[in-house]
Amino acid sequence: MRAFVLRAAGGLDHTALVDAPDPGPPGPGQVRVALRAAALNQLDLFVVRGLPGSEYRYPHVLGADGAGVVDAVGDGVTGVGPGDPVMLNPGVSCHACEFCRAGEHSLCVRYQLLGEHLPGTLAELVVVPARNAAPLPPLEPALSWPEAAAFSLVTLTAWRMVVTRAQVKAGETVLVWGVGGGVSLAALRIAKLRGARVIATSSSDAKLAAARTLGADVTLNHRTQKVAAEVRALTSKRGVDVVVENVGRATWEDSVRVLAKGGRLVTCGATTGPMGVTDIRRLFWNHLTVMGSTMGNEAEYREIVRLLGIGELRPIVDRVYPLADARAAFERLERGEQWGKIAVEIDRETGSGKRET
Ligand SMILES: [Zn+2]
Repeated sequence: MRAFVLRAAGGLDHTALVDAPDPGPPGPGQVRVALRAAALNQLDLFVVRGLPGSEYRYPHVLGADGAGVVDAVGDGVTGVGPGDPVMLNPGVSCHACEFCRAGEHSLCVRYQLLGEHLPGTLAELVVVPARNAAPLPPLEPALSWPEAAAFSLVTLTAWRMVVTRAQVKAGETVLVWGVGGGVSLAALRIAKLRGARVIATSSSDAKLAAARTLGADVTLNHRTQKVAAEVRALTSKRGVDVVVENVGRATWEDSVRVLAKGGRLVTCGATTGPMGVTDIRRLFWNHLTVMGSTMGNEAEYREIVRLLGIGELRPIVDRVYPLADARAAFERLERGEQWGKIAVEIDRETGSGKRET
């Protein structure tokens, strides 16, 4: 099968489109999916650069998000069958550890992600547990393959952050940093669904204008404006109830500073660096809560798929590349130019990745 792979650690120069071995038939409880599209995440860039402690078996197939058609099922699989269009939950859990048994699959002690610990979705075929394959909800107009591929990782991550962890309520004020990023964009939309007032930041005025069309109540350009001072003024010195973080070092101090009394800071990433400064006095005096979050559990995944099925949270696709140009897709992600998700289409028949849409 054709696959976009990493052949050695250390950057995009080590990626290539190659003929890789097929994954073989699905085992018990697994399905094999003929992928029609994949979507890129920051995670994929981290994998390409080399995550500490990771040991890949090269060539390593990249890509966490994907959608396609089930082409084979293993023993004991019910609920999906050959020919079914599905999208994939990229998080694979063991269903045996104490966290899995408590229903918290993204806390699994053996948690694995497609494209990081397991072969990924930038390929013609992938084998996954059947429970990771969700039938595409019927929508009008129908979900395109790139839209279906773009849904899972960022929507699940943002849902757990905003709803389960921070428990954003109607009328609360939420600050979302860097709204051009996939998780931040999903967090903006979910916070608006919850009835919150959202302050969104970006370094791009064009992205801020787009954020306003999605319901952002106030937008701040964090390159040209002092976010902490602006938030203080906007909230009559009170601060915000919730900050949604994935920037890390560059914003952490401000994220703590802008919280109102009783405020919650929820983070799922540290793109600019993992060491942030926390003024501990603010933490205790203001009764602040700092919470971490990664991906989401299966109940949360079912809930976001249900919402997609009633027309909410439909993914925004930035640009679609053929599989042959996957490297260009990664380069666009690296430059941070996108609004919405960057997707890659995979066409089995020609292998060129080209498909009329
Ligand atoms: Zn587990």
